[in-house]
Amino acid sequence: MTATQEAPVPATAPELPVVGHWVAGVPAAGTGDRTADVYDPATGQVTKRVALASRGDADAVIDAAAKAWPAWRDTSLARRTQVLFAFRELLNSRKGELAEIITSEHGKVLDDALGEVSRGQEIVELACGLSHLLKGSLTENASTKVDVSSLRQPLGVVGIISPFNFPAMVPMWFFPVAIAAGNAVVLKPSEKDPSAAIWLARLWQEAGLPDGVFNVLQGDKVAVDALLESQKVKAISFVGSTPIARYVYENGTRNGKRVQALGGAKNHMVVLPDADLDLAADAAVNGGFGSAGERCMAISALVVIDSIADELVGRITDRMSGLRTGDGRRGCDMGPLVTGAHRDKVAGYIQQGVDSGADLVVDGRGQEVDGAPEGFWVSPTLFDKVTPEMSIYTDEIFGPVLSVLRVETFDEALDLINSNPYGNGTAIFTNDGGAARRFQNEVEVGMIGINVPVPVPVGYYSFGGWKNSLFGDTHAHGVEGFHFFTRGKVITTRWLDPSHGGINLGFPQSV
Ligand code: NAD
Repeated sequence: MTATQEAPVPATAPELPVVGHWVAGVPAAGTGDRTADVYDPATGQVTKRVALASRGDADAVIDAAAKAWPAWRDTSLARRTQVLFAFRELLNSRKGELAEIITSEHGKVLDDALGEVSRGQEIVELACGLSHLLKGSLTENASTKVDVSSLRQPLGVVGIISPFNFPAMVPMWFFPVAIAAGNAVVLKPSEKDPSAAIWLARLWQEAGLPDGVFNVLQGDKVAVDALLESQKVKAISFVGSTPIARYVYENGTRNGKRVQALGGAKNHMVVLPDADLDLAADAAVNGGFGSAGERCMAISALVVIDSIADELVGRITDRMSGLRTGDGRRGCDMGPLVTGAHRDKVAGYIQQGVDSGADLVVDGRGQEVDGAPEGFWVSPTLFDKVTPEMSIYTDEIFGPVLSVLRVETFDEALDLINSNPYGNGTAIFTNDGGAARRFQNEVEVGMIGINVPVPVPVGYYSFGGWKNSLFGDTHAHGVEGFHFFTRGKVITTRWLDPSHGGINLGFPQSV
């Protein structure tokens, strides 16, 4: 891999810049000749290209992290804390820049991009408390004049593989904790929006993180496979679709790594007849169409008791008529989808919904938008009378398509959710505490909102779903995050004392 002090040299098309890797504190173009297009989704134009790593490029990035790790592992907690604080201050003061980058490559509206950065910043703030979170324990006199202590140590090089839909927040679920705990990181961002990772790498450098502790490897399956196969990589945090999460989990663990692989989702919001229907309608619109439905915690299935369904659908439809879809830089409510291919896939699902007999209440295809005609547009779409076998219900569409499923009872709603293969998030809207309590107790989902549509936990709790929404047993950030990025040692200590002499071949027991 060739390191350059300037931005990587355009490789394929002279008129377009190429987003490269970040290795040991410098941008690097890589040796591979493969690139992928990066779009501005609101204009539909290719604005840059991203380098797709060769196996050799990936090995060079992993080697750089491995070289930097021992010194960072031995860096005092006090110094690590200072770097984390400096990173937090820089991020807080300059997050507008990062939000603009996100909007230009992902398409989400600027406010939403800023919200994403702020939620990521929460984890940086959590990680600033690293000295408390990494404390071990000591038991004096576990046996006579024998002390037992425990401590946790970093793993080494860890890989983070992230999806397109949160190019800043999802990597920040992991890397502040991994770095605080004393690991060296290789981040493999989505090839659809690769620039946020490079901006974050520069910020780490400015914050005083030693070169090589945070690296960025751009690429696709070749880069992912290199991380999964390298013996130098000790752990992988993956977030993306369920088939790839399963692949990463199976291959990473087969190669002896610790893996947490967060997958796709189908999130249900249940509305009971005693709910505040205005609150529920607002929540359905916000949870269903925020970030054009490209959130793993988006509400995509609205499960409504039949007696209130007409009323709720009416109130949601009213609210949808006021939504403005358009360029995320123009103060619109909702931006475009990430690529033309994804726009076509979402539009295809809308057609499947129509063909399968669902009631298309609001059709988001071909609507007027505040943006370039070539942008990747699908406006908010609402289906009613969706049934569980329809593909608009069974599949994760990952677009602004909300499906209403009508049920007769609470139990029917609960059965529907528990029969679904995904278990990321869910919400219930009700004023009945007993019903809500039963819901939180019996529903087989990892994150639950009670009158909260998108229940993404705060940073000091942990994020993660159940069933096909997470492979592995450790969720992201919070105390579990520190646990994931460290491994434990227990030390039994005795200092010379005459009372300890003598031969005894029996199994050691406390006396
Ligand atoms: P994706 O699975 O296509 O890509 C995720 C990562 O895997 C990317 O870095 C990509 O380069 C890599 N990848 C893609 N194909 C691969 C292959 N064949 N082999 C190895 N690596 C490969 O996901 P996406 O489209 O970028 O993101 C959307 C998905 O992510 C949705 O399913 C969404 O629900 C999910 N997601 C889940 C969570 C969660 O917390 N559970 C959070 C965000 C997104």
